[in-house]
This record gives sequence, structure tokens and C-alpha cells, in this order.
Amino acid sequence: MARLVMKFGGTSVADIDRIRNVARHVKREVDAGFAVAVVVSAMSGKTNELVAWTRAAAPMHDAREYDTVVASGEQVTSGLLAIALQEIGVNARSWQGWQIPILTDGAHGAARIMEIDGSRLIERMAQGQVAVIAGFQGLAPDNRIATLGRGGSDTSAVAIAAAIGAVRCDIYTDVDGVYTTDPRIVPKARRLDRVSHEEMLEMASLGAKVLQVRSVELAMVHGVRTFVRSSFDDPADPRLADAENPPGTLICDEDEIVEKQVVTGIAYSKDEAQISLREVADKPGVAAAVFVPLAEANINVDMIVQNVSEDGTTTDMTFTVPTSELERAMKVLEGARSSIGYSSLQGSGDLVKVSVIGIGMRSHAGVAASAFRALAGKSINIRAITTSEIKISILIDSAYTELAVRTLHSLYGLDAA
Ligand code: ASP
Ligand code: MG
Repeated sequence: MARLVMKFGGTSVADIDRIRNVARHVKREVDAGFAVAVVVSAMSGKTNELVAWTRAAAPMHDAREYDTVVASGEQVTSGLLAIALQEIGVNARSWQGWQIPILTDGAHGAARIMEIDGSRLIERMAQGQVAVIAGFQGLAPDNRIATLGRGGSDTSAVAIAAAIGAVRCDIYTDVDGVYTTDPRIVPKARRLDRVSHEEMLEMASLGAKVLQVRSVELAMVHGVRTFVRSSFDDPADPRLADAENPPGTLICDEDEIVEKQVVTGIAYSKDEAQISLREVADKPGVAAAVFVPLAEANINVDMIVQNVSEDGTTTDMTFTVPTSELERAMKVLEGARSSIGYSSLQGSGDLVKVSVIGIGMRSHAGVAASAFRALAGKSINIRAITTSEIKISILIDSAYTELAVRTLHSLYGLDAA
């Protein structure tokens, strides 16, 4: 029997009615002949509430006890869904992370999955029992519950799919797939039928918040076919019974994508800030002097631009950090002024990074050039540029976000007819 993983996020299990609706989606797949494992999140808002409680109890608290508290949200939904399934005649049993077990490392609050023994699950599923698994949690080496970081139940689902050799990992959420760009900005955005793991990774890390980034990495490494679809579809809708082509977006290996688009999507991430160091000495060790203290302060640096020095003695260095870290980064750099040596330090917030993403870029020249020309045509000033094999990122003032995204979206022919 083919095994299928179905994952339901917080809005999909927000109340008992929604959980009943989820049970009907699960029953549809059971009736279609799949051996099903379901992974659930906590009811929407629940994890935030639990986190707030731990903070109220003590602003600085033991991470192991944080995990004990916040993992409880998923325990509740796993039990409720098992009850709802039993109620409609589906044999089902809940599983907590420690019962499977899902073994993690010891980083409480942000643990990584190390190993999953899928044999017990497979055995029960083969007997016709649906496994309803609490997402977001596992068992740490200290024999205590660990959680995987916010949004971690996507990662639980993909890891379970890899461990039991599922044919697909369906991620049911409150949107019906992955779009060419944010439909709130570009009403002509289209749902993608397929997107490669690599492209999705770029989109996810750039603020297309459908999936936790780590889950996409894991899916890529293990070749898990992940399907993003809506839990708000009527479980009885005949289109959903079409196992070959249900509505949604398949995230898969590049080889499965026959028609490779040059550009697949336009992503953007707000809240970027830019820092410039003027007249930094142009000599070995300067980049380390700038970026090591920032790394030690746990500040993520993204786009880095260093000018070629005119006279061979000094140069300017510019890079971006998240807006929320701007103040802290400036303090760190002020503190390191004597070891770095610069004439002035400038910081500005309110920037946005717009990225053009597509695996077809590997074999097509001129994608960047046409983007720059199109943005110039709209008088949008580019502050920094970075590129990778499948992505071009452009830093601009946030006031131009919508104009830039729309311009690029139609430039590459992504607008819906
Ligand atoms: N409930 C957890 C959270 O809100 C995990 C998840 O939903 O993915 O972060
Ligand atoms: Mg989520």
C-alpha cells in the first residue's frame, strides 16, 4: 500500500469544526487506498499563547520547560483529530514525538531532527490504522521533549515522509499553493503547478512564508515530493479525488519539471537595512574585522558589496542586516571602530530586497540585464545587487516594492492572462 503523509497547519485545525473537516480530508485518502500518516500543528494562536505563558512565568526560563509547555499544543490537536477520525469510522491513533520516536539533538527550543525510526509507524499503518502525529516535537538526548522552532511541524511532516518512504507529503494550509509572487501585491500572480526544491528554498527564505525553510532543505536532501494545497477546499470536491492532478503546487526534483521556466517567481523581503563603512583600510583582514564581531553578536549579514579602492589604500564597504538588528549592528561596529578603522559609519532602514528566481537562469544569459533595464525605466534606484546561479537579488527603497515586483512579474511573462 502506498504511504501518504498529510500535514495540517494551525488555521486548518483552528476549532473542532475545522478538525472535523480535516478528518474528512483524511478519510478521502484512506478510502482512495493510501496508508496515511497525519502530522498536525497546534490550533492557530495556541503556540503564541503558550510561549507568552512561559515568558509571563519568568522572562528568562529553562528551555527544557519551555519545550514541555509549547509542545502541548500539538498534543491536544493530535488527540482531537484521532477522536474525530474514530467518530467517522476511521481507525486512528495519536502519536507524540517521543512515542515514535523522533530523535532530535539537544538544542531545546530549536532542535534538529537527527533520526526517526519509522518501523512502528509503518507496521501500524500496514494494519490499516491512521497515525496522527503531533508535529513540532521530538525527543532530545536528555530524554526530554524538544521542539523544532516556530513553524517546525512542516519539518516534522517532511521528516516523517522520508522516514516511512511516503509517495508524497501533502502540506494542507490556508492558501492553495505557491504563487509566482505575493497575490496581495500582484493580483495577476499565478499558482505554480510545479516548482523545484531549489527554487522553493529561495522563495521560502525570501519571505514566501508557506513552508518552514528547514522543511524544504530536508525535502531536497531526501527527495521528498511535497505538495502544497488548501485545507479549505471541500473534502468532497471531485477535483480532490483526482489523485493524479489535485489542485495545488508540487515541490519536486528538477528532473520532474519538463518545461523549465527561465523565471519562476518574484519574491521580496521587507525589513532590510543597509550599513556603509566609509574609507576602510584596503588590506588583508579588514573583512574579518568587520564581520567577525557581527557574527559573534549573532547578527545575520546578507548582501555584501565592497568597492574597488581607487588609490589602493581605502575602500567603502556596504552590507545589509535585518532592520530589527540595525541598531545593535551599529553599536557593535562603533565598538569595533579602532580595530576596523573607518572614517564614518552610516545606516539606513526601510529597504526591500526583491529577487528574481528561476532554475532556467542557469542556461540563459541576459536575465539580470533586462531586470536592471526595466527598473531603470521606472526610475527605481538600485542600491545593491547579488546573484546566484538561480537568483538575482536587488536592494531598493521599500517605497518602490510594489512597483518593482509588478514590473518584474510582467517583464518575465508571469502575469495571468
Ligand atoms: N505550532 C508551532 C508553531 O506555531 C509549529 C507549527 O505550527 O509549525 O510554530
Ligand atoms: Mg506553518
